[in-house]
Amino acid sequence: MKIRDILGQGRPTISFEVFPPKTAENYESVKAAALEIARLKPAFMSVTYGAGGGTSQYTVDIASALKEQGGVTALAHLTCVSSTREKVHQVLGELKARGIENVLALRGDIPADGRVAEDYRYASELIREIREFGDFCIGAACYPEGHVESDRKTDDIRHLKEKVEAGCDFVTTQMFFDNNILYNFLYRIREQGISVPVAAGIMPVTNKSQIKRICQMSGTELPARFKALLDRFGDDPAAMKQAGIAYATEQIIDLIANGVDAIHVYSMNKPEVAARIRENLSDIIK
Ligand code: FAD
Repeated sequence: MKIRDILGQGRPTISFEVFPPKTAENYESVKAAALEIARLKPAFMSVTYGAGGGTSQYTVDIASALKEQGGVTALAHLTCVSSTREKVHQVLGELKARGIENVLALRGDIPADGRVAEDYRYASELIREIREFGDFCIGAACYPEGHVESDRKTDDIRHLKEKVEAGCDFVTTQMFFDNNILYNFLYRIREQGISVPVAAGIMPVTNKSQIKRICQMSGTELPARFKALLDRFGDDPAAMKQAGIAYATEQIIDLIANGVDAIHVYSMNKPEVAARIRENLSDIIK
């Protein structure tokens, strides 16, 4: 099924993201975790794409397992900045052959050494190409706090509009911990005529040092209320997990109460965390 049809139904949905293994020896355990999350019957599941594309086969294989064995609509991520056109076409061909209808089209981060393949500069170019390639539903990334490379949010929103005009059907946000940032962003993009569905990316934080690193890299702000949780529970893994799940649940309930129906949870391949969030929302997302 195409995700644009799922998100267009006008009711709250929850979906989960997993990431593929880096090595063959972890493949089965990652696949097992992904299939366990699939048993929660999310609206769809996304599978990220390893930077550089070296593990692209795992992305395709896990997405395919989710569809065939998990019975869940799958969304395969695809990045372009470190890829040749030939590689992109090869991955798209495989996705098509496996019946995967949804692709999240990304530029990818510029590698630390600055070396990129020269076929693509921006995600909008990839989106245009996927449109031409075949009948995919296409998603893209967006950044409620602005992309790290972008000095001005207005420029970033203008570039987001270019992605929508290039043919993307929905967008998924970078994680955020303050819902007001998302509400402000939604107001600004709607004002600019961007009307595609926006899936809100929610990260249940269960590990203090990991989140500090991710936020430094992505430019995501940690509100004082959230920092207090990290300070108080960060050194007690069980307490941090409970607090992180409660915070994410509260964020999601507030989003749905305010009309943001598409919730995308960064599961970090943790079935137990996904299950607890799902359970907390059992009567809110039917
Ligand atoms: P783009 O939309 O191309 O934007 C990149 C930067 O260029 C922005 O600052 C933008 O404002 C600017 N820009 C865009 N167009 C123009 C233009 N015409 N002229 C000048 N500037 C322009 N990374 C992975 O490696 N694998 C993944 O699976 C993955 N999944 C992700 C999922 C989500 C939901 C999100 C939010 C991010 C994900 N990322 C992933 C990270 C992403 O690859 C990085 O954030 C990357 O730096 C930007 O990708 P993009 O597709 O948003 O790029």
